[in-house]
Amino acid sequence: GLELNNISSSTHIFRSKLPDIPLPNNMPLHKYCFLKLPENADRPCLIAGERSYTYGETHLATRKVAASMSKMGIQKGDAIMILLPNSPEFVFYFMAASMLGAIATTANPFYTAAEISKQLAASKAKLVVTRSAYVHKVGEKCLKVVTVDEPQDESESEVPEVDIWPEDPVALPFSSGTTGLAKGVVLTHKSMVTSVAQQMEGENPNLYLKEEDVVLCVLPLFHIFSMHSVMMCSLRAGSGILLMEKFEIKGLLEGIERHRVSVAMVVPPLVEALANNPAVEEYDLSSIRLIMSGAAPLGEQLEEVMRKRLPKAILGQGYGMTEGGPVIGMCLGFAKYPYRTKRGSCGSVVRNAEMKVIDTESGNSVGRKEAGEICIRGPQIMKGYLNDEKATKGAIDTEGWLHTGDIGYVDEDDEIFLIDRLKELIKYKGFQVPPAELEHLLITHPSISDAAVVPQNHHSAGQLPVAFVVASQSHLTEQAVKDFIAKQVVFYKRLHKVYFVNAIPKSPTGKILRKELRAKLASNDIER
Ligand code: AMP
Repeated sequence: GLELNNISSSTHIFRSKLPDIPLPNNMPLHKYCFLKLPENADRPCLIAGERSYTYGETHLATRKVAASMSKMGIQKGDAIMILLPNSPEFVFYFMAASMLGAIATTANPFYTAAEISKQLAASKAKLVVTRSAYVHKVGEKCLKVVTVDEPQDESESEVPEVDIWPEDPVALPFSSGTTGLAKGVVLTHKSMVTSVAQQMEGENPNLYLKEEDVVLCVLPLFHIFSMHSVMMCSLRAGSGILLMEKFEIKGLLEGIERHRVSVAMVVPPLVEALANNPAVEEYDLSSIRLIMSGAAPLGEQLEEVMRKRLPKAILGQGYGMTEGGPVIGMCLGFAKYPYRTKRGSCGSVVRNAEMKVIDTESGNSVGRKEAGEICIRGPQIMKGYLNDEKATKGAIDTEGWLHTGDIGYVDEDDEIFLIDRLKELIKYKGFQVPPAELEHLLITHPSISDAAVVPQNHHSAGQLPVAFVVASQSHLTEQAVKDFIAKQVVFYKRLHKVYFVNAIPKSPTGKILRKELRAKLASNDIER
Protein backbone atom coordinates (compact mmCIF):
# COMPACT_ATOMS: atom_id res chain seq x y z
CA GLY A 1 0.00 0.00 0.00
CA LEU A 2 0.91 3.64 0.24
CA GLU A 3 2.12 3.63 3.84
CA LEU A 4 5.14 5.82 4.09
CA ASN A 5 7.90 3.78 5.63
CA ASN A 6 11.08 5.64 6.27
CA ILE A 7 14.42 4.01 6.16
CA SER A 8 17.67 5.77 6.78
CA SER A 9 20.24 3.00 6.51
CA SER A 10 21.54 1.55 3.25
CA THR A 11 19.26 3.60 1.03
CA HIS A 12 19.92 3.33 -2.70
CA ILE A 13 19.94 6.89 -3.96
CA PHE A 14 20.12 7.97 -7.58
CA ARG A 15 21.57 11.33 -8.57
CA SER A 16 22.13 13.14 -11.82
CA LYS A 17 25.28 12.57 -13.84
CA LEU A 18 25.44 16.32 -14.27
CA PRO A 19 27.21 18.16 -11.47
CA ASP A 20 25.11 20.10 -8.97
CA ILE A 21 24.86 23.81 -9.63
CA PRO A 22 24.66 26.80 -7.30
CA LEU A 23 20.95 27.55 -7.02
CA PRO A 24 19.86 31.17 -7.43
CA ASN A 25 16.77 30.33 -5.44
CA ASN A 26 16.80 33.26 -3.08
CA MET A 27 15.48 35.33 -5.98
CA PRO A 28 11.78 35.93 -6.65
CA LEU A 29 10.48 34.01 -9.65
CA HIS A 30 9.71 37.01 -11.89
CA LYS A 31 13.18 38.47 -11.33
CA TYR A 32 14.74 35.15 -12.19
CA CYS A 33 12.61 34.65 -15.33
CA PHE A 34 13.43 38.15 -16.58
CA LEU A 35 17.13 37.92 -15.70
CA LYS A 36 18.18 38.53 -19.29
CA LEU A 37 15.87 41.49 -19.75
CA PRO A 38 18.47 44.25 -20.18
CA GLU A 39 20.27 42.57 -23.08
CA ASN A 40 17.14 40.97 -24.51
CA ALA A 41 14.79 43.92 -24.41
CA ASP A 42 14.38 43.98 -28.18
CA ARG A 43 14.25 40.24 -28.79
CA PRO A 44 10.92 38.54 -29.51
CA CYS A 45 9.28 37.09 -26.41
CA LEU A 46 5.60 36.35 -27.02
CA ILE A 47 3.96 35.63 -30.36
CA ALA A 48 0.19 35.12 -30.44
CA GLY A 49 -1.63 35.30 -33.76
CA GLU A 50 -1.01 38.76 -35.14
CA ARG A 51 0.18 40.10 -31.80
CA SER A 52 3.78 39.98 -30.67
CA TYR A 53 5.75 41.36 -27.74
CA THR A 54 9.47 41.79 -27.23
CA TYR A 55 11.02 41.03 -23.84
CA GLY A 56 10.94 44.74 -23.06
CA GLU A 57 7.27 45.01 -23.99
CA THR A 58 6.39 41.85 -22.08
CA HIS A 59 8.07 43.15 -18.96
CA LEU A 60 6.41 46.54 -19.29
CA ALA A 61 2.97 44.98 -19.77
CA THR A 62 3.60 42.80 -16.72
CA ARG A 63 4.47 45.85 -14.63
CA LYS A 64 1.33 47.64 -15.78
CA VAL A 65 -0.78 44.66 -14.81
CA ALA A 66 0.97 44.44 -11.42
CA ALA A 67 0.26 48.14 -10.83
CA SER A 68 -3.39 47.80 -11.75
CA MET A 69 -3.88 44.68 -9.62
CA SER A 70 -2.26 46.49 -6.72
CA LYS A 71 -4.69 49.36 -7.24
CA MET A 72 -7.51 46.83 -7.09
CA GLY A 73 -6.29 45.79 -3.67
CA ILE A 74 -4.31 42.66 -4.48
CA GLN A 75 -1.54 42.29 -1.94
CA LYS A 76 1.18 39.94 -0.92
CA GLY A 77 -0.26 36.54 0.01
CA ASP A 78 -3.50 37.00 -1.96
CA ALA A 79 -4.48 34.44 -4.55
CA ILE A 80 -5.70 35.34 -8.02
CA MET A 81 -7.25 32.85 -10.41
CA ILE A 82 -6.04 32.88 -14.00
CA LEU A 83 -8.81 31.41 -16.12
CA LEU A 84 -7.38 31.97 -19.57
CA PRO A 85 -6.34 30.06 -22.64
CA ASN A 86 -2.72 30.41 -23.77
CA SER A 87 -2.32 34.13 -24.40
CA PRO A 88 0.03 37.01 -23.61
CA GLU A 89 -2.29 38.01 -20.76
CA PHE A 90 -1.69 34.66 -19.07
CA VAL A 91 2.02 35.47 -18.94
CA PHE A 92 1.47 39.09 -17.84
CA TYR A 93 -0.88 38.20 -14.99
CA PHE A 94 1.14 35.22 -13.81
CA MET A 95 4.37 37.21 -13.63
CA ALA A 96 2.56 40.27 -12.22
CA ALA A 97 1.20 38.13 -9.38
CA SER A 98 4.79 37.10 -8.64
CA MET A 99 5.84 40.79 -8.56
CA LEU A 100 3.20 41.53 -5.93
CA GLY A 101 4.03 38.48 -3.85
CA ALA A 102 0.59 37.17 -4.78
CA ILE A 103 -0.21 33.58 -5.83
CA ALA A 104 -1.58 32.52 -9.19
CA THR A 105 -4.00 29.62 -9.15
CA THR A 106 -4.52 28.42 -12.69
CA ALA A 107 -7.62 26.69 -14.02
CA ASN A 108 -8.89 25.35 -17.30
CA PRO A 109 -11.21 27.90 -18.98
CA PHE A 110 -13.23 24.95 -20.27
CA TYR A 111 -14.09 23.91 -16.73
CA THR A 112 -17.76 24.00 -15.81
CA ALA A 113 -19.03 26.61 -13.36
CA ALA A 114 -19.11 23.93 -10.66
CA GLU A 115 -15.47 22.96 -11.20
CA ILE A 116 -14.37 26.61 -11.17
CA SER A 117 -16.37 27.34 -8.08
CA LYS A 118 -14.67 24.50 -6.14
CA GLN A 119 -11.22 25.83 -7.01
CA LEU A 120 -12.22 29.40 -6.18
CA ALA A 121 -13.46 28.31 -2.79
CA ALA A 122 -10.40 26.20 -2.01
CA SER A 123 -7.89 28.80 -3.19
CA LYS A 124 -9.80 31.78 -1.71
CA ALA A 125 -8.90 33.72 -4.84
CA LYS A 126 -9.72 37.43 -4.57
CA LEU A 127 -9.62 38.14 -8.27
CA VAL A 128 -10.44 36.16 -11.39
CA VAL A 129 -8.66 37.04 -14.62
CA THR A 130 -10.57 35.74 -17.60
CA ARG A 131 -12.26 36.63 -20.89
CA SER A 132 -15.81 37.81 -21.37
CA ALA A 133 -16.71 34.43 -22.89
CA TYR A 134 -16.05 32.67 -19.57
CA VAL A 135 -17.35 35.29 -17.14
CA HIS A 136 -20.75 33.61 -16.84
CA LYS A 137 -19.05 30.59 -15.29
CA VAL A 138 -17.60 32.65 -12.45
CA GLY A 139 -20.48 32.52 -10.02
CA GLU A 140 -19.18 34.26 -6.92
CA LYS A 141 -20.75 37.70 -6.91
CA CYS A 142 -18.42 39.30 -4.38
CA LEU A 143 -15.34 38.48 -6.42
CA LYS A 144 -13.43 40.96 -8.51
CA VAL A 145 -13.26 39.91 -12.14
CA VAL A 146 -11.00 41.25 -14.87
CA THR A 147 -11.94 40.47 -18.46
CA VAL A 148 -8.76 40.93 -20.44
CA ASP A 149 -10.48 41.27 -23.83
CA GLU A 150 -12.29 44.40 -22.68
CA PRO A 151 -10.75 47.88 -22.26
CA GLN A 152 -8.62 48.13 -19.13
CA ASP A 153 -8.12 51.01 -16.74
CA GLU A 154 -5.00 52.66 -18.15
CA SER A 155 -4.53 55.26 -15.43
CA GLU A 156 -1.02 55.57 -14.06
CA SER A 157 -0.17 53.66 -10.95
CA GLU A 158 2.91 52.23 -9.31
CA VAL A 159 4.13 48.74 -8.62
CA PRO A 160 4.64 48.63 -4.86
CA GLU A 161 7.93 47.40 -3.41
CA VAL A 162 7.24 44.01 -1.87
CA ASP A 163 9.60 41.85 0.15
CA ILE A 164 9.43 38.34 -1.23
CA TRP A 165 11.04 35.37 0.52
CA PRO A 166 12.06 32.06 -1.05
CA GLU A 167 9.41 30.20 0.95
CA ASP A 168 6.56 32.46 -0.18
CA PRO A 169 4.08 30.69 -2.48
CA VAL A 170 3.84 31.91 -6.07
CA ALA A 171 1.83 29.27 -7.95
CA LEU A 172 -1.13 27.15 -6.93
CA PRO A 173 -2.04 24.65 -9.63
CA PHE A 174 -4.52 21.94 -8.61
CA SER A 175 -3.79 18.24 -8.68
CA SER A 176 -5.34 15.16 -7.13
CA GLY A 177 -1.90 13.67 -6.47
CA THR A 178 -1.93 10.01 -5.59
CA THR A 179 -5.43 9.90 -4.11
CA GLY A 180 -8.67 11.80 -3.55
CA LEU A 181 -9.92 15.08 -4.90
CA ALA A 182 -7.96 17.88 -6.57
CA LYS A 183 -5.98 19.90 -4.04
CA GLY A 184 -4.05 23.16 -4.26
CA VAL A 185 -0.35 22.42 -4.79
CA VAL A 186 1.69 25.12 -3.05
CA LEU A 187 4.72 25.96 -5.16
CA THR A 188 7.06 28.57 -3.72
CA HIS A 189 9.44 30.99 -5.41
CA LYS A 190 12.23 28.71 -4.23
CA SER A 191 10.73 25.57 -5.71
CA MET A 192 9.94 27.16 -9.06
CA VAL A 193 13.29 28.92 -9.41
CA THR A 194 15.06 25.69 -8.45
CA SER A 195 13.08 23.69 -10.94
CA VAL A 196 13.81 26.11 -13.78
CA ALA A 197 17.48 26.31 -12.76
CA GLN A 198 17.74 22.51 -12.77
CA GLN A 199 16.91 22.66 -16.48
CA MET A 200 18.51 25.88 -17.57
CA GLU A 201 21.63 26.70 -15.53
CA GLY A 202 25.19 25.54 -15.67
CA GLU A 203 27.31 24.05 -18.33
CA ASN A 204 24.99 21.30 -19.47
CA PRO A 205 21.41 22.35 -19.14
CA ASN A 206 19.00 19.53 -19.81
CA LEU A 207 16.45 21.36 -21.86
CA TYR A 208 19.17 23.47 -23.37
CA LEU A 209 16.92 26.24 -24.65
CA LYS A 210 18.72 29.07 -26.35
CA GLU A 211 17.92 32.67 -27.24
CA GLU A 212 17.52 31.73 -30.89
CA ASP A 213 14.89 29.13 -30.07
CA VAL A 214 11.22 29.54 -30.78
CA VAL A 215 9.32 27.34 -28.37
CA LEU A 216 5.89 25.95 -29.15
CA CYS A 217 3.31 26.71 -26.48
CA VAL A 218 0.22 24.74 -27.45
CA LEU A 219 -0.11 22.74 -24.23
CA PRO A 220 -2.34 24.63 -21.81
CA LEU A 221 -0.45 27.01 -19.54
CA PHE A 222 -2.75 26.26 -16.63
CA HIS A 223 -1.03 22.84 -16.37
CA ILE A 224 2.38 22.75 -14.75
CA PHE A 225 4.17 21.22 -17.75
CA SER A 226 3.51 24.20 -19.98
CA MET A 227 3.64 26.73 -17.13
CA HIS A 228 7.11 25.57 -16.13
CA SER A 229 8.83 23.99 -19.10
CA VAL A 230 7.45 26.32 -21.73
CA MET A 231 6.69 29.64 -20.07
CA MET A 232 9.27 29.89 -17.29
CA CYS A 233 12.14 28.05 -18.97
CA SER A 234 11.72 29.94 -22.26
CA LEU A 235 11.63 33.30 -20.48
CA ARG A 236 14.75 32.44 -18.53
CA ALA A 237 16.52 31.40 -21.74
CA GLY A 238 15.35 34.46 -23.63
CA SER A 239 13.64 32.31 -26.29
CA GLY A 240 10.56 33.27 -28.26
CA ILE A 241 7.28 31.65 -27.22
CA LEU A 242 4.66 30.85 -29.86
CA LEU A 243 1.34 30.90 -27.98
CA MET A 244 -1.48 28.83 -29.46
CA GLU A 245 -4.90 28.82 -27.87
CA LYS A 246 -5.93 25.41 -29.06
CA PHE A 247 -4.64 22.38 -30.84
CA GLU A 248 -5.77 22.11 -34.43
CA ILE A 249 -3.37 20.33 -36.75
CA LYS A 250 -3.36 22.73 -39.72
CA GLY A 251 -2.99 25.81 -37.54
CA LEU A 252 -0.25 24.11 -35.58
CA LEU A 253 1.72 23.14 -38.68
CA GLU A 254 1.29 26.58 -40.20
CA GLY A 255 2.54 28.16 -36.99
CA ILE A 256 5.59 25.88 -36.84
CA GLU A 257 6.51 26.66 -40.44
CA ARG A 258 5.85 30.37 -40.31
CA HIS A 259 7.61 31.07 -37.02
CA ARG A 260 10.39 28.50 -37.51
CA VAL A 261 9.58 26.70 -34.26
CA SER A 262 12.70 24.92 -33.03
CA VAL A 263 11.48 23.31 -29.81
CA ALA A 264 8.15 21.53 -29.55
CA MET A 265 6.94 20.73 -26.04
CA VAL A 266 4.23 18.15 -26.55
CA VAL A 267 2.16 15.36 -25.04
CA PRO A 268 1.83 11.91 -26.61
CA PRO A 269 -1.40 12.65 -28.58
CA LEU A 270 0.41 15.57 -30.21
CA VAL A 271 3.36 13.35 -31.07
CA GLU A 272 0.84 11.02 -32.62
CA ALA A 273 -0.57 13.82 -34.75
CA LEU A 274 2.90 14.93 -35.86
CA ALA A 275 3.93 11.37 -36.58
CA ASN A 276 0.86 10.14 -38.42
CA ASN A 277 -1.21 13.00 -39.80
CA PRO A 278 -0.85 13.19 -43.61
CA ALA A 279 -1.09 17.00 -43.48
CA VAL A 280 2.41 17.05 -41.98
CA GLU A 281 3.86 16.31 -45.44
CA GLU A 282 2.61 19.65 -46.75
CA TYR A 283 4.62 21.76 -44.33
CA ASP A 284 8.26 22.48 -43.72
CA LEU A 285 9.03 21.35 -40.19
CA SER A 286 12.79 21.31 -40.65
CA SER A 287 13.22 24.06 -38.05
CA ILE A 288 12.36 21.65 -35.23
CA ARG A 289 15.51 20.50 -33.45
CA LEU A 290 13.94 19.16 -30.28
CA ILE A 291 10.66 17.48 -29.48
CA MET A 292 10.05 17.05 -25.80
CA SER A 293 7.14 14.85 -24.71
CA GLY A 294 5.80 14.62 -21.20
CA ALA A 295 2.77 14.30 -18.93
CA ALA A 296 1.84 10.79 -20.06
CA PRO A 297 3.53 7.64 -21.39
CA LEU A 298 4.82 7.80 -24.95
CA GLY A 299 4.52 4.42 -26.65
CA GLU A 300 7.75 3.01 -28.01
CA GLN A 301 6.22 2.39 -31.41
CA LEU A 302 5.11 5.98 -31.66
CA GLU A 303 8.62 7.07 -30.71
CA GLU A 304 9.98 5.08 -33.66
CA VAL A 305 7.50 6.54 -36.13
CA MET A 306 8.17 10.06 -34.91
CA ARG A 307 11.94 9.62 -35.18
CA LYS A 308 11.55 8.43 -38.77
CA ARG A 309 9.36 11.37 -39.65
CA LEU A 310 11.70 14.04 -38.31
CA PRO A 311 15.06 12.28 -38.28
CA LYS A 312 17.07 15.43 -37.58
CA ALA A 313 15.12 16.35 -34.49
CA ILE A 314 15.97 14.94 -31.10
CA LEU A 315 13.00 13.30 -29.46
CA GLY A 316 13.16 13.13 -25.70
CA GLN A 317 10.87 12.69 -22.74
CA GLY A 318 10.51 14.54 -19.52
CA TYR A 319 8.84 13.09 -16.46
CA GLY A 320 7.08 15.43 -14.11
CA MET A 321 4.35 15.75 -11.56
CA THR A 322 2.67 18.93 -10.34
CA GLU A 323 3.73 18.14 -6.76
CA GLY A 324 7.31 17.54 -7.93
CA GLY A 325 7.71 21.18 -8.84
CA PRO A 326 7.32 19.61 -11.54
CA VAL A 327 10.33 18.02 -13.26
CA ILE A 328 11.56 14.71 -11.83
CA GLY A 329 13.35 13.25 -14.81
CA MET A 330 14.56 14.78 -18.04
CA CYS A 331 16.43 13.33 -20.95
CA LEU A 332 20.01 14.43 -20.60
CA GLY A 333 21.68 17.45 -22.17
CA PHE A 334 22.27 17.69 -25.84
CA ALA A 335 25.40 19.76 -25.65
CA LYS A 336 28.28 18.04 -23.94
CA TYR A 337 26.47 14.79 -23.38
CA PRO A 338 25.48 14.07 -26.93
CA TYR A 339 23.98 10.62 -26.44
CA ARG A 340 20.33 10.17 -27.03
CA THR A 341 18.09 8.61 -24.48
CA LYS A 342 16.92 5.06 -24.97
CA ARG A 343 13.54 4.24 -26.33
CA GLY A 344 10.92 4.32 -23.58
CA SER A 345 13.12 6.20 -21.16
CA CYS A 346 11.75 9.32 -19.56
CA GLY A 347 15.11 10.76 -18.67
CA SER A 348 17.36 10.83 -15.63
CA VAL A 349 16.78 12.47 -12.30
CA VAL A 350 17.25 16.25 -12.27
CA ARG A 351 20.31 17.91 -10.71
CA ASN A 352 20.46 19.07 -7.08
CA ALA A 353 17.98 16.35 -6.16
CA GLU A 354 17.81 12.74 -5.04
CA MET A 355 15.66 9.91 -6.27
CA LYS A 356 14.96 6.50 -4.87
CA VAL A 357 12.77 3.59 -5.87
CA ILE A 358 11.01 1.79 -3.05
CA ASP A 359 9.47 -1.63 -2.71
CA THR A 360 5.74 -1.00 -2.45
CA GLU A 361 5.29 -3.62 0.27
CA SER A 362 8.29 -3.03 2.55
CA GLY A 363 9.05 0.59 1.73
CA ASN A 364 12.75 -0.29 1.42
CA SER A 365 14.70 1.27 -1.39
CA VAL A 366 15.77 -1.02 -4.20
CA GLY A 367 18.71 -0.96 -6.59
CA ARG A 368 19.01 -0.60 -10.32
CA LYS A 369 16.66 -2.49 -12.60
CA GLU A 370 14.29 -3.25 -9.75
CA ALA A 371 10.81 -1.78 -10.02
CA GLY A 372 9.08 0.11 -7.26
CA GLU A 373 7.53 3.44 -6.39
CA ILE A 374 9.57 6.45 -7.48
CA CYS A 375 10.34 8.99 -4.76
CA ILE A 376 12.05 12.35 -5.23
CA ARG A 377 13.60 14.79 -2.78
CA GLY A 378 15.00 18.27 -3.31
CA PRO A 379 14.32 22.01 -2.96
CA GLN A 380 12.10 21.99 -6.07
CA ILE A 381 9.22 19.90 -4.72
CA MET A 382 6.00 21.46 -3.45
CA LYS A 383 5.76 22.91 0.01
CA GLY A 384 2.59 20.89 0.52
CA TYR A 385 -1.09 20.86 -0.28
CA LEU A 386 -2.99 24.01 0.59
CA ASN A 387 -4.65 23.75 4.01
CA ASP A 388 -4.46 19.96 3.96
CA GLU A 389 -1.90 18.63 6.38
CA LYS A 390 -3.20 15.09 6.16
CA ALA A 391 -2.82 14.93 2.38
CA THR A 392 0.59 16.61 2.63
CA LYS A 393 1.78 14.00 5.13
CA GLY A 394 0.49 11.32 2.81
CA ALA A 395 2.57 12.70 -0.05
CA ILE A 396 5.82 13.87 1.57
CA ASP A 397 7.27 11.68 4.31
CA THR A 398 9.15 12.89 7.38
CA GLU A 399 12.48 12.59 5.55
CA GLY A 400 11.27 14.92 2.81
CA TRP A 401 10.67 12.34 0.08
CA LEU A 402 7.77 12.98 -2.26
CA HIS A 403 6.07 9.69 -3.11
CA THR A 404 4.96 9.90 -6.73
CA GLY A 405 2.60 6.95 -6.98
CA ASP A 406 4.42 5.98 -10.17
CA ILE A 407 5.97 2.54 -10.58
CA GLY A 408 9.22 2.38 -12.45
CA TYR A 409 12.89 1.50 -12.34
CA VAL A 410 16.29 3.03 -13.01
CA ASP A 411 18.54 1.20 -15.46
CA GLU A 412 22.32 0.74 -15.59
CA ASP A 413 22.72 4.14 -17.29
CA ASP A 414 20.61 6.05 -14.75
CA GLU A 415 17.65 6.26 -17.08
CA ILE A 416 14.14 6.12 -15.63
CA PHE A 417 11.50 3.83 -17.10
CA LEU A 418 7.92 4.12 -15.90
CA ILE A 419 5.86 0.96 -16.09
CA ASP A 420 2.67 1.52 -14.15
CA ARG A 421 0.73 3.90 -11.97
CA LEU A 422 0.09 2.84 -8.41
CA LYS A 423 -2.05 5.89 -7.74
CA GLU A 424 -5.70 6.29 -8.65
CA LEU A 425 -5.13 9.10 -11.13
CA ILE A 426 -6.48 8.66 -14.65
CA LYS A 427 -4.83 10.66 -17.41
CA TYR A 428 -6.72 11.46 -20.59
CA LYS A 429 -4.26 12.89 -23.12
CA GLY A 430 -2.17 14.18 -20.23
CA PHE A 431 -5.16 15.84 -18.50
CA GLN A 432 -5.91 14.80 -14.94
CA VAL A 433 -9.12 12.91 -14.27
CA PRO A 434 -9.37 12.25 -10.53
CA PRO A 435 -11.56 9.17 -10.02
CA ALA A 436 -12.63 10.33 -6.56
CA GLU A 437 -14.21 13.43 -8.07
CA LEU A 438 -16.36 11.39 -10.45
CA GLU A 439 -17.24 8.90 -7.69
CA HIS A 440 -18.41 11.76 -5.45
CA LEU A 441 -20.61 13.07 -8.25
CA LEU A 442 -21.97 9.63 -9.12
CA ILE A 443 -23.20 8.87 -5.62
CA THR A 444 -25.15 12.14 -5.54
CA HIS A 445 -27.41 10.61 -8.21
CA PRO A 446 -30.63 9.47 -6.51
CA SER A 447 -30.56 6.08 -8.25
CA ILE A 448 -26.92 5.24 -7.55
CA SER A 449 -25.92 3.71 -4.24
CA ASP A 450 -22.22 3.13 -4.86
CA ALA A 451 -19.66 3.75 -7.58
CA ALA A 452 -16.02 3.37 -8.57
CA VAL A 453 -14.14 4.91 -11.48
CA VAL A 454 -11.05 3.36 -13.02
CA PRO A 455 -9.00 3.87 -16.16
CA GLN A 456 -9.41 1.87 -19.32
CA ASN A 457 -6.41 1.92 -21.63
CA HIS A 458 -6.98 3.59 -24.96
CA HIS A 459 -4.70 3.73 -28.00
CA SER A 460 -4.83 7.48 -28.59
CA ALA A 461 -6.14 9.05 -25.38
CA GLY A 462 -3.89 6.95 -23.14
CA GLN A 463 -6.67 6.28 -20.66
CA LEU A 464 -10.41 6.83 -20.45
CA PRO A 465 -12.50 6.94 -17.28
CA VAL A 466 -15.04 4.14 -16.93
CA ALA A 467 -17.46 3.70 -14.06
CA PHE A 468 -18.71 0.70 -12.11
CA VAL A 469 -22.06 1.62 -10.66
CA VAL A 470 -24.42 -0.01 -8.18
CA ALA A 471 -27.90 1.09 -9.18
CA SER A 472 -30.65 1.31 -6.59
CA GLN A 473 -33.29 1.50 -9.35
CA SER A 474 -33.33 -1.05 -12.13
CA HIS A 475 -34.42 1.40 -14.85
CA LEU A 476 -31.20 3.45 -14.67
CA THR A 477 -29.47 3.40 -18.07
CA GLU A 478 -25.86 3.82 -19.05
CA GLN A 479 -26.73 6.90 -21.10
CA ALA A 480 -28.50 8.53 -18.17
CA VAL A 481 -25.42 8.07 -15.99
CA LYS A 482 -23.12 9.39 -18.71
CA ASP A 483 -25.31 12.46 -19.24
CA PHE A 484 -25.54 13.10 -15.53
CA ILE A 485 -21.75 13.35 -15.33
CA ALA A 486 -21.23 15.08 -18.69
CA LYS A 487 -23.21 18.14 -17.67
CA GLN A 488 -21.11 18.65 -14.55
CA VAL A 489 -17.54 18.23 -15.79
CA VAL A 490 -15.07 19.37 -18.42
CA PHE A 491 -15.09 17.18 -21.57
CA TYR A 492 -12.13 14.95 -20.71
CA LYS A 493 -13.67 13.81 -17.43
CA ARG A 494 -16.75 12.39 -19.20
CA LEU A 495 -17.41 8.71 -18.67
CA HIS A 496 -16.54 6.53 -21.60
CA LYS A 497 -18.49 3.52 -20.32
CA VAL A 498 -20.68 2.57 -17.39
CA TYR A 499 -20.92 -0.96 -16.05
CA PHE A 500 -23.71 -1.89 -13.64
CA VAL A 501 -22.60 -4.24 -10.88
CA ASN A 502 -24.10 -5.67 -7.68
CA ALA A 503 -21.34 -4.40 -5.44
CA ILE A 504 -18.06 -2.49 -5.58
CA PRO A 505 -15.18 -4.65 -4.34
CA LYS A 506 -13.68 -3.08 -1.21
CA SER A 507 -10.97 -3.83 1.32
CA PRO A 508 -11.98 -4.45 4.96
CA THR A 509 -11.20 -0.76 5.63
CA GLY A 510 -13.59 0.33 2.88
CA LYS A 511 -11.06 1.21 0.19
CA ILE A 512 -12.12 0.51 -3.36
CA LEU A 513 -10.12 -2.42 -4.76
CA ARG A 514 -9.23 -0.62 -7.97
CA LYS A 515 -6.79 -3.28 -9.07
CA GLU A 516 -9.58 -5.82 -9.12
CA LEU A 517 -11.77 -3.58 -11.23
CA ARG A 518 -8.94 -2.86 -13.65
CA ALA A 519 -8.29 -6.59 -13.93
CA LYS A 520 -11.98 -7.11 -14.65
CA LEU A 521 -11.81 -4.57 -17.45
CA ALA A 522 -8.67 -6.11 -18.87
CA SER A 523 -10.19 -9.58 -18.91
CA ASN A 524 -13.57 -8.37 -20.13
CA ASP A 525 -15.17 -10.25 -17.25
CA ILE A 526 -17.99 -7.88 -16.48
CA GLU A 527 -21.35 -9.01 -15.14
CA ARG A 528 -24.44 -7.03 -15.59
P1 AMP B 1 0.52 15.92 -13.44
O1 AMP B 1 0.65 16.28 -12.00
O2 AMP B 1 -0.79 16.28 -14.03
O3 AMP B 1 1.66 16.46 -14.24
O4 AMP B 1 0.60 14.33 -13.53
C1 AMP B 1 1.76 13.67 -13.12
C2 AMP B 1 1.75 12.24 -13.56
O5 AMP B 1 1.75 12.13 -14.99
C3 AMP B 1 2.99 11.48 -13.16
O6 AMP B 1 2.98 11.12 -11.80
C4 AMP B 1 2.94 10.31 -14.11
O7 AMP B 1 2.02 9.33 -13.68
C5 AMP B 1 2.43 10.95 -15.38
N1 AMP B 1 3.57 11.30 -16.25
C6 AMP B 1 4.23 12.46 -16.33
N2 AMP B 1 5.22 12.41 -17.24
C7 AMP B 1 5.22 11.16 -17.75
C8 AMP B 1 6.00 10.47 -18.74
N3 AMP B 1 6.97 11.06 -19.40
N4 AMP B 1 5.69 9.18 -18.98
C9 AMP B 1 4.69 8.56 -18.32
N5 AMP B 1 3.91 9.16 -17.40
C10 AMP B 1 4.17 10.44 -17.11
